[in-house]
Amino acid sequence: EPGTCKDREIMRHDPHLLIEGCLIASFAMQAHACYIYLRGEYVLERERMEAAVKQAYEAKLIGKNNVHGWDFDVYIHHGAGAYICGEETALLESLEGKKGQPRLKPPFPAGAGLYGCPTTVNNVESIAVVGTILRRGADWFAGFGRPNNTGTKLMSISGHVNRPCNVEEAMSIPLRQLLEEHCGGVRGGWSNLKAVIPGGVSVPLITREMSETALMDFDSLREMRSGLGTAAVIVMDQSTDLVKAIARISYFYKHESCGQCTPCREGTGWMWRVLERMAVGEADPSEIDLLLDVAGQVEGHTICALGDAAAWPVQGLIRHFRHEIEDRIQQYRTRRANFVGHAVAAE
Ligand code: SF4
Repeated sequence: EPGTCKDREIMRHDPHLLIEGCLIASFAMQAHACYIYLRGEYVLERERMEAAVKQAYEAKLIGKNNVHGWDFDVYIHHGAGAYICGEETALLESLEGKKGQPRLKPPFPAGAGLYGCPTTVNNVESIAVVGTILRRGADWFAGFGRPNNTGTKLMSISGHVNRPCNVEEAMSIPLRQLLEEHCGGVRGGWSNLKAVIPGGVSVPLITREMSETALMDFDSLREMRSGLGTAAVIVMDQSTDLVKAIARISYFYKHESCGQCTPCREGTGWMWRVLERMAVGEADPSEIDLLLDVAGQVEGHTICALGDAAAWPVQGLIRHFRHEIEDRIQQYRTRRANFVGHAVAAE
């Protein structure tokens, strides 16, 4: 997810933590095999993971007849580098050697997953924390955050802050506190903040006023019609051209769409093209509502969540910064009228 760079920290710097989590989680599920799927570009992480798996086999911590008495194999699999392979069923297809395209559900992977076997697909961060939770107790872990939003979370903060970073924090930490304590604050001060994408590029942005009170958890961000997503916080200051930024995000989704469903395949490209025009003001004001309508047609009408992920940033832009698009269109019209006026005068 653009903006998200948390799992690779675990794989680079503490790969054994992930292997331990895999073993415990697999034992709990009575599974004897575990596959760790890495995106193609993550070469260093694959090397670190492979070395750690080798060490674990040599120490008889995993493998046949290991010290735990639970036969357990770990396979590291390297994908070819596609965003959609982060979707669980596309990941399974890719693991099976096919094109990474999401499957229709049901059946869900828990019933028929990898090679038709019951499979649980989970995220690196969730599995890596299992050992710590068991060691320190579930109550300890649940003591972080507020009800319904408990535990700790890895958060990746990028963009216009003084010190972009990855940090593990308690759930429900106020967004402003997160930025000020760990990132040295917003570049140019809090008043220079324009908008924040709080959970990776697939969630709608929120304004500075909303960021003031937002908590980094599921409920708070859902109430603001955004989401915690991957907790990848992208900070944008007043210098940001938001229309252009969302157009760039739309291009990403257009590029990554696997093309199986028409609303996603056609809609992502259409939204990107319209936003590119809007970014220079070359659009009609009525197209703003049309864009909103098309985003609504993509949302919820596709096989996987990539369609929603492509629609939500666009909806967020129009919800909170519609005036920016309108101003841009007006400026373009004024420039054009002046240009035509000059041309006539010159004749
Ligand atoms: Fe593919 Fe997009 Fe449909 Fe997902 S929503 S299956 S990425 S076309």
